[in-house]
Amino acid sequence: MHKILLLGPQGSGKGTQAALLGQRLGIPVLSMGHLLREVIAEGGMLAERIRPILEAGELVSDDIAITVLDRKLDTLHAKGGYLLDGFPRNYHQFLAYDRYDQPTQVIVLDVPREESLRRLTQRIEKESRSDDTPEVMVRRLDIYEAETLPMLEEYTKRGLVRHVNGVGMIDEIAQRIAMII
Ligand code: AMP
Repeated sequence: MHKILLLGPQGSGKGTQAALLGQRLGIPVLSMGHLLREVIAEGGMLAERIRPILEAGELVSDDIAITVLDRKLDTLHAKGGYLLDGFPRNYHQFLAYDRYDQPTQVIVLDVPREESLRRLTQRIEKESRSDDTPEVMVRRLDIYEAETLPMLEEYTKRGLVRHVNGVGMIDEIAQRIAMII
């Protein structure tokens, strides 16, 4: 059974690769960022609480992230596997998830900071995600380097982490991922 975590800095193309890989393996993909944006789109109290956090590029509280994910994961687990995009992103979330489940593989899309910034600048010009501004993207990359990369050590120790070079064409990167699954 595949229980894959896909992580990478903002602008690494992890959303794109998550969708491709989920399709190829026939497993559901759960994107934490997408789930949170859905909560915002639905409106209500929680939406108003988390909107400014996403807009600032900060992480929502671990409690909120875990609550939003919790019920979804239970249903996915029952379906025989999943691909999780963007979770866990720090040590606390790692601990919460670790009590619940153990991934079969952790894939990290490596993209140098300058390349992430270049891609994100292009995305700002093309799309209008409200959390895509120059200041916010720098903040998100800082959080990835300060919190997410150190958290990955835990999975590295268990021999679960595979790094994939995230620079190249979408198909090439999908191939690199296919080779390690
Ligand atoms: P993403 O689409 O994965 O880049 O996520 C977009 C935004 O959603 C992030 O900048 C955070 O504000 C929030 N977010 C996504 N995943 C998490 C998480 N695991 N914990 C807390 N906040 C998250």
